[in-house]
Amino acid sequence: MPWRRQHVEIGDARVQEQLRSRVVELERMLASLGEGVVAVDSAGIVVHANAAARELLAIEQDRVDGHHVFSVVALPEVRDVFDAVMREAAPSATGVFTVGATDAGRRVLQIRVAPLQDNMDAGAGAIAVIADVSDQRRVEQMRRDFFSNVSHELKTPMAAIRGIIETIRDDPEMPEGDRMDFLDRAVRQADRLDTLVADLIAISRLESASVATRRSTVDPGDIIRDVVAGLAHRAERSGIELVIERCDSALIAADEEALRQAVTNLVVNAITYTNRGGRVRVGMQRAGSDMLMHVCDTGIGIPQDSQERIFERFYRVDPARSRERGGSGLGLSIVKHVARSHGGDVTLDSEPGVGSTFTLRLPTGVAARESASRRANT
Ligand code: ADP
Repeated sequence: MPWRRQHVEIGDARVQEQLRSRVVELERMLASLGEGVVAVDSAGIVVHANAAARELLAIEQDRVDGHHVFSVVALPEVRDVFDAVMREAAPSATGVFTVGATDAGRRVLQIRVAPLQDNMDAGAGAIAVIADVSDQRRVEQMRRDFFSNVSHELKTPMAAIRGIIETIRDDPEMPEGDRMDFLDRAVRQADRLDTLVADLIAISRLESASVATRRSTVDPGDIIRDVVAGLAHRAERSGIELVIERCDSALIAADEEALRQAVTNLVVNAITYTNRGGRVRVGMQRAGSDMLMHVCDTGIGIPQDSQERIFERFYRVDPARSRERGGSGLGLSIVKHVARSHGGDVTLDSEPGVGSTFTLRLPTGVAARESASRRANT
């Protein structure tokens, strides 16, 4: 029956073609995955490694296919997860290992191995999925450091307040002057706690929702004038001249509360780190499509080797001086966060003994211009 033979041949060809296209499809899918995929046969020989796997493990194709997986990645952590699945018949195994010789090139990779069939005894191989978890690990580490720093920062003033209260309680005969001294110290420590908690709330507010949802049209010049007016008394008490110089007007789309906080932090710092008789100047100028706000002081300045680090959370040049003046160590990290969330940045120019100038760059942006023209037309 020739028609029947013909039918079978056509069927075979079709099946083969279908299989071929499925394999090509599968290879394309594996190639486009961000995760690395390595398949090994029952002897541990690599039968397939996708592009991401080769890139993550930094190995050439000709050193992968046909090689034993332990010679491709000769690390005990990798050996352990394959052994767990292929020798001890675990349903799956996960491990973490590090690749890269230099600090900059180091990557933390997570590997998950599972058998290709339910039963490893059946002679099937295994498949490993490798993901780069370096960023995730970095964020986790940063969070751990942050919590440990916050706990430490909260504990110190609380312990001091407790010590002061106990001293007063245990000495009913304490002279009135000494008692007042102790109480003043307790109030200063409570202020420190207050600042720290307020800064933590500010950070959580900044991190919680996108700034875009809280934007309104504001003139940063108005914020400068408000902040300077609010801090005039503090500057006067510290014997510092606080002045507003050229302050161009502009309308930008901004999170007003966040911007107010950033300007306040910069001006408070300028007053805090400037000695009596010094001067603090605040102003703003348009530069192309940007607004450049500056806070310039004749204060103690910042040593070159600390200039990069002062925007980090809890970094202080002189921790004792910062704490004594009620600083939380979070002020500049908030400024940087606010600048970035508005598409701008903050830069520093400082010389120890001469003074510092912080410049906050805020793009005026299309959104701001649009909402400004809407406002003008209504
Ligand atoms: P703090 O609460 O300690 O002031 P900040 O994050 O605001 O925290 O500032 C970090 C550190 O940067 C400060 O401890 C101080 O050492 C330094 N600093 C900030 N602003 C100035 C300034 N205007 N002049 C000199 N040093 C400054």
